[in-house]
Order: sequence, then structure tokens, then C-alpha cells
Amino acid sequence: MLVYKFGGTSVGSVVNMNHVKEIINTKGKKIVVLSAMSGTTNALVEISDLIKGNETNDAEVKIKLLEATYRKTVQDLIQNKTLQEEVIQYVNSIFSSLIESVNQPHSVLLHNTILANGELLSTYMFSQLLQQEGLKVALLPALEFMRIDRANEPDNFYVKQNLERLMEPVNQADIYITQGFICLDADGVITNLQRGGSDYTATIIGAAIEAEEVQIWTDIDGFHNNDPRYVDNTKALSHLSYDEAAELAYFGAKILHPQTVMPVRTLDIPLRLKNTMDPGAHGTLITNQIHGEGIKAIAAKDNITAIKIKSVRMLLAHGFLKKVFEIFEKYETSIDMITTSEIAVSLTIDNTTHLDAIKGELEKFAKVGIDDYMSIVCLVGNHIIYHPDTPELFQVLQDVNVRMIAYGGSNNNISLLVNTSDKLETLKKLQRYVFEESSVSI
Ligand code: ADP
Ligand code: ASP
Ligand code: MG
Repeated sequence: MLVYKFGGTSVGSVVNMNHVKEIINTKGKKIVVLSAMSGTTNALVEISDLIKGNETNDAEVKIKLLEATYRKTVQDLIQNKTLQEEVIQYVNSIFSSLIESVNQPHSVLLHNTILANGELLSTYMFSQLLQQEGLKVALLPALEFMRIDRANEPDNFYVKQNLERLMEPVNQADIYITQGFICLDADGVITNLQRGGSDYTATIIGAAIEAEEVQIWTDIDGFHNNDPRYVDNTKALSHLSYDEAAELAYFGAKILHPQTVMPVRTLDIPLRLKNTMDPGAHGTLITNQIHGEGIKAIAAKDNITAIKIKSVRMLLAHGFLKKVFEIFEKYETSIDMITTSEIAVSLTIDNTTHLDAIKGELEKFAKVGIDDYMSIVCLVGNHIIYHPDTPELFQVLQDVNVRMIAYGGSNNNISLLVNTSDKLETLKKLQRYVFEESSVSI
């Protein structure tokens, strides 16, 4: 069985939903994971924020506006009057519940309940479209099988058991549609896999059913060698290894949710990235195979905080690093980059929830400096450190204010810490040097 996931743009209009219908109307059973129509989750976040700020009138206006766009979409999408009526009723029920939430006390639960509506709407509408075309389709409610545990990891046993339970009675279906992004937490309360989480839903399902392949369909022809939102002349990579893709996703490549690769890597299930707008394009195949040498791609992650920890004694005493790490461990704050000198340790974090407490504890034995608005620029590839052209890479960075470099921690990664204000220039310079002027690229 195959798992397909279509993102917000892929289901963002009637035309695109019809493209998706063509793409999945092939032989063989499949599970199709859908995101909310593009713009919907952002609109729902705004509605939730307005409710939180007691701006009830503005929240209602926003809900009505969104409802009008959905009514119009349903009319254009579904011509069969009976099916159209069913979808309109569903849309009505979702929007009445949103209107009701305007006067409820705001909470995390209310926020997550509001956010879930985007995927509930898109999957209902799309399954009725397939129904109209006479396809054998079944809708699987993600909130009845997708669950995370207390460590925010997928509860694989629960997912598998419940997915099988739900699929059994509708086993004559060819196409199973389900919602990306939304899930239950360990207490059975509605939550989600974080923004962009539908990719992760797809690979969690892929692992649960031991799919032949998981395909992520989006609005670009695969994983590019740099961020196409900021850099010109980026190119799609035909192959990546799980490790390369995971690292790039973790370090900010928006095309994949940071956790997407994990579930399929363990089971060696191929992960393919494809373009809904150009289905003939090769896309990117992600497997355990490593292709090529040298730097393959660059990504950047924002909202990084750098912490400089200077020993109050002249030299880093024995046990100093242990004490530092124990503090980060205690506050469950993971460290992305680290460099040390004789008297200081610099490290970066992306989760500042416990920063004040961490700083307080470090200051008991060290001087601590904090810099925020930083970005990590990450270069990923194979045998980078042995590649003859890599040392020259640093020449290009002479004019950039690089605050930290992590080089040699693995053969496959070089990370640079820069001010976020220097990120674009860094990405562009690296693009020119690495992929356009030199032979470092493959
Ligand atoms: P979807 O809604 O389908 O999940 P996303 O917007 O989450 O789509 O991801 C696709 C977008 O990711 C692309 O349109 C592109 O702008 C952006 N992107 C950022 N980095 C990369 C990269 N390295 N390769 C391809 N796309 C990237
Ligand atoms: N709809 C969600 C979001 O916009 C999840 C996703 O698109 O993957 O973040
Ligand atoms: Mg996405």
C-alpha cells in the first residue's frame, strides 16, 4: 500500500483538488493524507488569537469571511446536489462550532480544537468529490487513531491497532482519506503535530502499515539545494539519504516537517517528494542510499539563541562541561551547536522556555552571555570534511560575521551561526560559491 500526502497548496483550490484526484486515481489501495486548504490554518490561528484577546467582534467577522470562501468552494467543487447538500451541512456544523467558541474561555484545548477544523474541512470536501466521481473512498478520522505519547513521540502501537480497526469494516475502499496534522495526546485530548505536521502524519501512517512508499506531494519539484524562498537558481536534488534529509529538515528546510524522516528511516521505507503542479517531474527520492560527494544542500533555521558560558576560573576545570550539560538536561533543553575554547563554551538552543532558569543555574559557577536573533546555516552532504574544495568555503565567509562554526562533528555537516540579519547574504554567497562557481557540488 502507498501513502500519499498533499499539502495546503495542493488542496488549496478547486482546480488543484481536481489535480490531486487525477494523481491518486490509479490502481492499488492507498491512504491519502490531506492538509488544510492553504491559508486556512493561519486564519484559524488568527481567530483563536482574537478570541484570546477578547476581540469577539473581529473573531466573528473573520469566521464569517472564512465560511463564505468555503461555501463558494463547495459550490464549485461538488455538482451533485445531494452530495453538495451534505457538504454544505458539514461546513455549517464546523462554522457554527467556531462561532460558539467565540464566547468560550480561551485555553490550549480551545486553540487546538479551532485549529483542527482546517483538516476536517478539506478531507470531508475531498472525500465527497471522490464519491461524486464514483471512486471507492472511505474517510478515516485521524482523531480515532493518531496519538502521541507523553514524550510527544508517536504512539506507534496505538496508531497501528486503531488504524487497522478503522480500516477493517471499510476494506472494500480503494482510497482512504485522512487528516494530517491533528492527533490526540496521551490523555486523549485533541492536539496537533505542530505547524507543517501533515508530513509527519504521512510517515507515521507509512510506518504503521509498513507502506511500500510514502509520497509527499507539494508545490515544488522536490528538495532543492537551497531555500528557494530566499535564493535564486536553486535546483531540485534527485536523491537524498534519510540522514541528509533529516538534517536539512531539522535545520529549517520548510519542505519537510523536522520529524518527518524518522518513522520511515527505521523501517527503510522510501520517501518521495513530488510536485502536484508538475507530476511528471522526477522529484526527490529519499532512501538509505548515499549519492555523490561534497556539499549537497544548505538550509537555515531561525530563532536561535546563543549562550556563552565563561568559566570564572582561568581554565575550564575538570567536570565543568558535565555541570553545564546537566543543567540543560534538567530543563529538557536540547543543544544544537557547541564549541569550546580553553576558558569558554558557546552553545545554541532553539527552545527558550527555561532560559531564565538555565541562566540562573549557570551563573552559580560561570559568567553567562546571551545573544538572540541568531540563525544556524547548515551545509549537508557526504564526506564534506575530506572534500578538497571544502576549506576554500571559508574564504567566501570572510565578509560574513560568523559567530560559531561546528565543523568535523560528522563527515556530513558544517553548521555556521550567524546573526539572522546576515542570513540571506550568507545563503546567497554560499549558493554562488558552492553550487555555481566551484566544483564542490555534485
Ligand atoms: P505544503 O503546504 O505542501 O506542505 P510547504 O509550504 O510546507 O508545502 O513546503 C513547500 C515549500 O517549502 C516550497 O514551496 C518552498 O518555498 C519551501 N522550501 C524551503 N526550503 C526548501 C527546499 N530546500 N527545497 C524545496 N522547498 C523548500
Ligand atoms: N495545516 C497545518 C499547517 O498549516 C498542517 C500542514 O499543513 O502540514 O501547519
Ligand atoms: Mg508543509
